[in-house]
Amino acid sequence: MEPFSLYIHVPFCRTKCPYCDFNTYENIEHLIDDYVRSLIYELICWSKYIDFNSKNKSIKSVFFGGGTPSYISANYISQIMDTVEKNFNLIDTVEISLECNPNDLSQEKILSWKNSKINRISIGAQSFSDKFLRVLGRDHDFTEISQGFSLARSLGFNNLSLDLIYGIPGQNINDWKSTINQALKLQPEHISMYGLTIEKNTKFDWMVTEGLMPNPDSDIAADMYEYVEKEMYRNGYTHYEISNWSLPGKESLHNLTYWYSQEYIGVGAGAHSFFSGIRFWNVNSPNEYINLLEKDPLIDNNTEICRGFCAVSEIEDYDDNTRIADQFILGLRLVEGVNESIFNQSFIDLISKKYKKEIKELIDIGLLEITNSSIKLTKRGRLLANEVFYKFL
Ligand code: SF4
Repeated sequence: MEPFSLYIHVPFCRTKCPYCDFNTYENIEHLIDDYVRSLIYELICWSKYIDFNSKNKSIKSVFFGGGTPSYISANYISQIMDTVEKNFNLIDTVEISLECNPNDLSQEKILSWKNSKINRISIGAQSFSDKFLRVLGRDHDFTEISQGFSLARSLGFNNLSLDLIYGIPGQNINDWKSTINQALKLQPEHISMYGLTIEKNTKFDWMVTEGLMPNPDSDIAADMYEYVEKEMYRNGYTHYEISNWSLPGKESLHNLTYWYSQEYIGVGAGAHSFFSGIRFWNVNSPNEYINLLEKDPLIDNNTEICRGFCAVSEIEDYDDNTRIADQFILGLRLVEGVNESIFNQSFIDLISKKYKKEIKELIDIGLLEITNSSIKLTKRGRLLANEVFYKFL
């Protein structure tokens, strides 16, 4: 078995942003201590399971996501990383990322993360305009992004990523250009950019329904995306996934695991895993997650073997058709598409045959293209990616 990736979910946020539908919560700080203990327990369980099945324990990437991992004390991150290091084998080139809000970037935390071997920080900047940060309900300002970024850089982080959101109601193309220019001035190794979408059961969903906010304008968002494609290229960045750009060699190794359909273990509330060819996920509620792990100890004292994964809420009923469609769609997110160097030729032959009609239709309307070695989205296809993916579901 090849080295795999590890995702660690931290579901705590200082405040819940009005557009966010992630499995994350405000005002549950009283759970942090128990939650971290449960995470550590779940990691040990995985380690024992892997030992028992004589599998390879090598890890190529660790990703602290959420939620806001930077919000909890750096001491918790250090305890979790100690557990990872003691129970798994981190390969020499391991990428260890932590998602962070700009106003958590203090010298004390940054140095502690560095001590814990975190080597990549992904900063949720979202916008470089205080006006649009307020629209997004963010609790940081423009100055905190720049200062926090520069501090992390000066303390030795040479792999920094920024997350940005475009298509915010009221934002015009010049506002967006200004955000991009400010972001590029910082010279991050990586930038992720997402068009704002209105997700069900969020505050923005309610505001749109009540007529208090317009839906994001998809034409303006398309212009913003086109601007970004040109501007990032002009500044030496490679566009490697629909929403992600990096300097050469600084792609997110962890996220590539997902798009290449490689194996990963997710620990924590609501975390998804794809392991031993099976997709499954834990219960969403942090409280329930803690209770399940505490009530039903994972380690059987007699045999020292893990009894079971009691926090798992569901295992995907995964037939071959779903597996092939999933893998194809994830691969199409990559700008290089589904190609021979990553996906083997027999997989490409299989999808070419299985989706012959759909692929032809999408080529005819200019959303998909086939080259010698790959099937990939066209520039226009990347703008309308969801329409393409829908065809294969
Ligand atoms: S900080 Fe991030 S994870 Fe937390 S609510 Fe806001 S967008 Fe969601």
